Amino acid sequence: MINYSEALEIIKREISELEPGIEEIDLLDSYNRIIAEDVIADVDLPPFDNSAVDGYALVFSERNEWNVKGEISAGNYSPVAISEDEAVLITTGGKLPGNADTVVPVEDVEINNGTLRLKPDVIFKKGLNIRRKGSDLELNKIAVPAFTKIKPQTAAAIASCGREKVKVFSKLKFAVLATGDELIPVGEKPANDKIRVSNIYSLYMAVKEQNHSALNLGFVKDDRNLIKEKIRGTLESNIDFLITTGGVSVGKYDFLKDVFEELGVRRKFWKVNIKPGKPIYFGVFENNDKKILIFGLPGNPVSSLVNYKVFIEPAIDYLFKQKETELITAVLQNNLKKRDGKRHFARGILYEENGVWNVTSEFSQSSGNLVEMSASNCLIVLPEEIRNPQKGDSVKCIKI
Ligand code: AMP
Ligand code: MG
Repeated sequence: MINYSEALEIIKREISELEPGIEEIDLLDSYNRIIAEDVIADVDLPPFDNSAVDGYALVFSERNEWNVKGEISAGNYSPVAISEDEAVLITTGGKLPGNADTVVPVEDVEINNGTLRLKPDVIFKKGLNIRRKGSDLELNKIAVPAFTKIKPQTAAAIASCGREKVKVFSKLKFAVLATGDELIPVGEKPANDKIRVSNIYSLYMAVKEQNHSALNLGFVKDDRNLIKEKIRGTLESNIDFLITTGGVSVGKYDFLKDVFEELGVRRKFWKVNIKPGKPIYFGVFENNDKKILIFGLPGNPVSSLVNYKVFIEPAIDYLFKQKETELITAVLQNNLKKRDGKRHFARGILYEENGVWNVTSEFSQSSGNLVEMSASNCLIVLPEEIRNPQKGDSVKCIKI
């Protein structure tokens, strides 16, 4: 059985061959999308020398008195020439008059009968409070590089380059399908041996959390032919990823692996040395130029979501050159049981105290306990070689 890092490498290799589309959308609709072009400054930023404060623009000299001559408010420039003993009222963002080289803030001066004087002990130096043309970025330089995730702080930079529209990578298309005879819709009350089909809700939302498109295919019974027909149809549709849940382990009715392969999916791996989520299947379906990555995840909601978080999410970040999610180092607050050589992803609660991260994990760690998972905010990563980590040990955590 392969280890976690080998499995992730295989997924990354396959995902890097996907060629996400590019579309042009309104900047206002581009929140959290990944920009697919370098946005170039079509003007100097700022486009002209201007005042950083409300104040008085003047030509620096060793004096302490000026006559106030005229005003320039932001957006209302008119050329004015000032001599050494003159100052112009200027507002923040106002274009600097040609020969001025310094602005003194209104707070630092007193004015009497049109005569401006510096207050005692204020800082007065040549060049103060001026924002130079191009000082933020020069014309034709890259303001926002491709592969940046667009956030509010990026939007103003893009807008200042004259872009009402931006090219972004198209959302990846995921289809999510659950399998299992025991499944019923969440709107029904389970009787006997049925359970609500809960895991597709987590997976659907995990896709949305990464701002991609999710299609909920619902669920099918553990019936080889039904599953096959459903998946055959799905493989013909325009998707990039198929995520199935259930039926991928070693049970008598676990048909997914066989069905995938009968439909022409090439298996890349099945089973990874991890807990939970060991039975994960990964394969690739190719048809003409179209490639679909297939993830057959185990059915229980803890395993399938852990699989998504530790395999699919980092692989997508890799495709779009996003920084790897930072692991948080925390002090374990209770002993944990781990007797095997698998990599464990234990559910935990991470909290900060006096600048130190701590993590508790009083959960049973049963991969069937989805309410426990719901109460957690991290996965504690316990690498293969670790055994029975103890209270006080330092562990790495993935925030979820
Ligand atoms: P399987 O992977 O099919 O062996 O299922 C493993 C466990 O997850 C079983 O206890 C199933 O009843 C449960 N399970 C399977 N599919 C789902 C689902 N869609 N939602 C919630 N639990 C599920
Ligand atoms: Mg099953």
